[in-house]
Amino acid sequence: MPTKVAFYTFGCRLNQAETALMQQGFQTAEYQVVDYRHSPDVLVVNTCTVTENGDADTRRLLNKVRRINPQVKIALVGCQAQVQREKLFDLPNVRWVVGNARKMEIAQILSRSEAHPGENGGDSPQLIAPTISRESFTIPFVGFDREHTRANLKIQDGCDFFCSFCEIPYARGRARSREFGDILNEARQLAAAGYHELILTGINIGTYQYEGKTLLDALEALEGIEELWRIRISSIEPTTIANEIVEKMAAPGKLCRYLHVPLQSGSDAILQAMKRKYGVQEFADFLSAAHRAAPEACLGSDVIVGFPGESEAHFEETYGLLLELPLAYFHVFSYSDRGHAKSSNYGGKVSREAIAQRSQRLRELSARKRRLYFQQFVGKEALVLFEQQKNGFWSGLTDTYIRVKVQSDLNLENRLLPVRLEEVEGQAMKGRLI
Ligand code: SF4
Repeated sequence: MPTKVAFYTFGCRLNQAETALMQQGFQTAEYQVVDYRHSPDVLVVNTCTVTENGDADTRRLLNKVRRINPQVKIALVGCQAQVQREKLFDLPNVRWVVGNARKMEIAQILSRSEAHPGENGGDSPQLIAPTISRESFTIPFVGFDREHTRANLKIQDGCDFFCSFCEIPYARGRARSREFGDILNEARQLAAAGYHELILTGINIGTYQYEGKTLLDALEALEGIEELWRIRISSIEPTTIANEIVEKMAAPGKLCRYLHVPLQSGSDAILQAMKRKYGVQEFADFLSAAHRAAPEACLGSDVIVGFPGESEAHFEETYGLLLELPLAYFHVFSYSDRGHAKSSNYGGKVSREAIAQRSQRLRELSARKRRLYFQQFVGKEALVLFEQQKNGFWSGLTDTYIRVKVQSDLNLENRLLPVRLEEVEGQAMKGRLI
């Protein structure tokens, strides 16, 4: 009988990409990959440590899984495993704690310790979380993700920026890039397997550098892959976006008209305390220029609420800026102290109530801005890459990241079709096939 192994992913798009890659290591007769609710023998949890919720979420998941399946063996891999290490040993059923440097080897690690159970001191969990090297890297798998129409393509990892609120440089190491040829190899295989949209992921992808090649070179090379219809850049730091990338996005081609550029705060004082690399004016100028170059592009952002020292006045500056900027939406994050992050030691902590109130105001503003952004497309035509059917509606995305729903009896999965956009409905648009 093969060992049943399941996966659960917390956190960012990069973690999703890496789970898809790790799963490929288990495509052998020894293992059967199952859903985590279907009593797996082993559950691999790809963890996140970006907020305190990440930690609590892992604990909740483990308790839930153990109630259904008391015998399950747990492998905690990824960011929490890297920064919290032995602290995770106390969690129920944990047998392996594997940090980011070695998590791609999880299939071999499990096989080896199942074959030689006594090797690591009997029942005590195994910790494999060495320091992460700065070298460029390759990935031995192709991230086929059977559950999604679009595929993530990891091109970079780690970060050298050390923003004061962020633990990522500790959890994922310093910035390093995937070998250029290795990226193209995986992209070609994904495209040949029918993934027509690839989302370039990493931690700080604008800093991509491999033997003189940059993100722009990667985009140009990927555009040459025939079966690939769309290339999307995931979150990218504001100071790392070359003008040529904005020009490429504005021109007809495969690069989606979509930029997600984290702002984090609209107050210069707070940006400085966060150790961000730009001021409000620089960010506003960049975003306005991108908007002028590609007026229909979907420009999104992230904002952190309640950073230590954020007064009502600082918050109002953020609110005012977000109101003014040509953003289609932004994600709102509540500040929380992270063990390795400098801001954990800063004074002027903001109360939970104030954080909740401010977050609520910003979420409402974001929803309003998204509806306004959608409104400009009513009556227009757009190409939609359809993904799935739910409640009688097929849904998919435009290159400008608008979720579009249409009614159709045909199978539209993975087809790129023209749609007339008719109305805004909540955080999506309804349309009809042309
Ligand atoms: S740029 Fe700043 S926020 Fe983003 S990963 Fe690097 S340190 Fe963290």
